[in-house]
Amino acid sequence: MGWLAHAVSNLTAIIVPTNCSLCGSAIFDATAPICDNCLENIVLWGSFRCHKCGRGLPLGSNAVCPECSSKRRAYVYAISAGPYKGRLRKMIIALKAVKATSLAIPIAELMAEAIRMDGRLAGDEIVVPVPVSADTLAGRGFNQAELIGDSLAKKLGLDFKPRALKKVRSTPDQASLSRLYRLRNLDGCFSAKESLVSGRSILLLDDVITTGATAQACATVLRAAGARKVVLATAAFTLSDDRTVPDGSATEILHSGAQR
Ligand SMILES: [Zn+2]
Ligand SMILES: [Zn+2]
Repeated sequence: MGWLAHAVSNLTAIIVPTNCSLCGSAIFDATAPICDNCLENIVLWGSFRCHKCGRGLPLGSNAVCPECSSKRRAYVYAISAGPYKGRLRKMIIALKAVKATSLAIPIAELMAEAIRMDGRLAGDEIVVPVPVSADTLAGRGFNQAELIGDSLAKKLGLDFKPRALKKVRSTPDQASLSRLYRLRNLDGCFSAKESLVSGRSILLLDDVITTGATAQACATVLRAAGARKVVLATAAFTLSDDRTVPDGSATEILHSGAQR
């Protein structure tokens, strides 16, 4: 390549903007999937969070929320970056629906920050993503929890074991089922690889926690396969009053400027 062509190609790399995956505005940093404005306006939890489920609590509240004080789970506690709404929700939907896989990196960064702030991980955990069925994988082409988990494990310096859990049978879409049926629906759905998880502490990873039925089913098989302890990390947490709100079409959500 001549010097002129070389100079022009370098210049093009610098000045041609990409578009923000959430709002579509121009970005001049080719490595950033979302713009600074969207990044700054992601709603995250504040300093007061439930020590069990990780949801944000009002200023000065007790360390455990009312729902958790009466509940036992197969995982010890859960951490999430923020509520499943607004730009965080858009990012998760865009990652899955329009295959904006570069969004896994900023999502993992938000989760890593929440985990560092929480401060309870020992540092010897293995990161295990919640698996999807072979049918889902064939349709979507990737597992979003695996993409986020790979990035998160690197950021936290933990081992990543994407094959430690397997979804052995497909289930109807969880979102369309009642809570009781969600729990039953997941019976016998996952299996854990004993050689990878026995005696280990697990950081189980998923994109969103809604009723917690999927996380509970995964944590149960991990414990049965000898895992010492399971901690759950999700990008977002669905508050109970949001559970009845349908997701809507991905296009509609991604092109609406409104926060929800
Ligand atoms: Zn934006
Ligand atoms: Zn709680």
